[in-house]
Amino acid sequence: MADRVLRRFLSLHQAWLDFLAVACLGVCVLWAGIHLDLYEKLARFNIQHESWQADEFFLGLVVMGWCGFAFGIRRVYELRKEILNRRLAEKAAVDMAIHDTLTRLPNRRGLELEFHSRRLCPNDPFFLVLFDLDGFKSVNDVYGHSYGDRLLRELANRISTSLPDGDFACRLGGDEFALILRSTKTAESACLFLDQLASLISSPMVFDSVRLCTAGTYGVAQFPKDGIDLSSLLRRADLALYQGKHDGKNTVRFFDPSRDVQLEEQSQVVQLLREALDNGYLSLAYQPIVALEDERIVGFEALARLNHPVHGSISPLHFIPAAERSGLMRELTTLLLERACREATVWPEHLLLAFNLSALDLRDECLVNRVRSVLQRSGLPPNRLELEVTETAVVSDFVMASKHIEALHDMGIRIAMDDFGTGYSSLAQLAQFNFDKLKIDRTFISTVLQNDKNARIVQAVLSLSKGLSLTALAEGVETRAQAQWLSEAGCDMAQGFLFSEPLSETRLRELLGSLSKSGDEAA
Ligand code: C2E
Ligand code: CA
Ligand code: CA
Repeated sequence: MADRVLRRFLSLHQAWLDFLAVACLGVCVLWAGIHLDLYEKLARFNIQHESWQADEFFLGLVVMGWCGFAFGIRRVYELRKEILNRRLAEKAAVDMAIHDTLTRLPNRRGLELEFHSRRLCPNDPFFLVLFDLDGFKSVNDVYGHSYGDRLLRELANRISTSLPDGDFACRLGGDEFALILRSTKTAESACLFLDQLASLISSPMVFDSVRLCTAGTYGVAQFPKDGIDLSSLLRRADLALYQGKHDGKNTVRFFDPSRDVQLEEQSQVVQLLREALDNGYLSLAYQPIVALEDERIVGFEALARLNHPVHGSISPLHFIPAAERSGLMRELTTLLLERACREATVWPEHLLLAFNLSALDLRDECLVNRVRSVLQRSGLPPNRLELEVTETAVVSDFVMASKHIEALHDMGIRIAMDDFGTGYSSLAQLAQFNFDKLKIDRTFISTVLQNDKNARIVQAVLSLSKGLSLTALAEGVETRAQAQWLSEAGCDMAQGFLFSEPLSETRLRELLGSLSKSGDEAA
């Protein structure tokens, strides 16, 4: 400790120490000179050796000494100026490093400094708010980046003028800002403040003749309840923000721990799915589709399977939504569709392949081209492929879905409406799209014998499909009695554990082998 203080003292006062050392040396020399009568001896020496011109030499030394002294003072002055400029430049560089150049608000580094600048005390709660503008991208796209920049500057101005003393605002990048609210101590008062801030932010801004309106979504985490360090508070505020965006934007959301567990699980599924795609852990199971009339197999529905060597089997009900969220759906659909098509090419020609498309596939501009090239690569004729789409998927982008369905239909591919009855079940959809098949969801089939209302709904759907010349298929048929009832009600096809559960590729080939053998024997 003492050593550190000494070193610090020495480094700070080096110039003064140098001065002291030189001054001491000078005093010592002067003292010795006086005691030894050096000057008189020098004068005498000069007189005795006038011809040597030593007096001129010593005079020169005295003049040079004074000149050196004046030069030294001048240099010290220049040096002080230099140090001052350097300190200013350093201050400006630090300022730039912790501030955002566009809005002049502190940036992420500034947030870190602010967070660590005060002693964190568990009895002194505060809120970390992340907020993100809704639809900022469209301002940039429609009006150009200069308007986007002006909007951000005005917004920063509004935020900083509305913040009470002690609170802090910064821009993290793009249209994302963070606030530290120390002046509010309860969730209610933080919510009240954010409501006021939201209405201030959403009041229109006019630049030239352009009027811009914007709104934000706020995610809030509380210290120390939701985390005691900056990164966990940021992560949790971000989860709350994500939740707010998901729930319809322009909202304030506080972090909810139960949601955190859910999101953690979801992100783990995404991780496992990535691994599965890289290492080939994905496979397909094929469930037979039978004609109810004589229970002969007319085709197979391909169902995705993920068997992880460590985590075991993961349901498509988990990994398909994970693929949609993480942008992996495209890759997954292409991979599985190609595999299923290749498999179907070795089946007898009358057997149909049914394949599920996700909502995201239907919104993909390139869907039709992707399907076309998969069919070309695999060699499966388009009339042997049936693509299943759900009502919800169709509704999510009606225009795009209708364009795709039309084009796929024109190629000769059949389209089935899957899970009918669980989504919007809109008659307009049935009229608008060229469906070939209606698959009645298994929630209706499972209770068709117990629930009179469901039985009537199924009957109505069956007569509707007949009226529209659509093939009706009942999903999830598990008992002989259900199959009997459906057959009598006029249902054309069925799928379900009564006939067969989804089969692995090997078991499917065994089944096809035994079917062709029994066909040969019958012939
Ligand atoms: P889905 O299209 O309705 O598929 C039928 C689901 O019902 C399958 O579940 C199947 O195993 C199950 N099932 C069949 N018969 C019965 C039965 O008699 N009783 C009961 N309780 N269930 C039966 P799975 O394989 O877990 O698939 C669930 C969902 O995941 C599928 O529902 C489909 O929406 C989606 N999915 C599966 N594979 C894919 C795929 O390759 N791509 C896309 N986009 N979605 C897929
Ligand atoms: Ca399906
Ligand atoms: Ca279904």
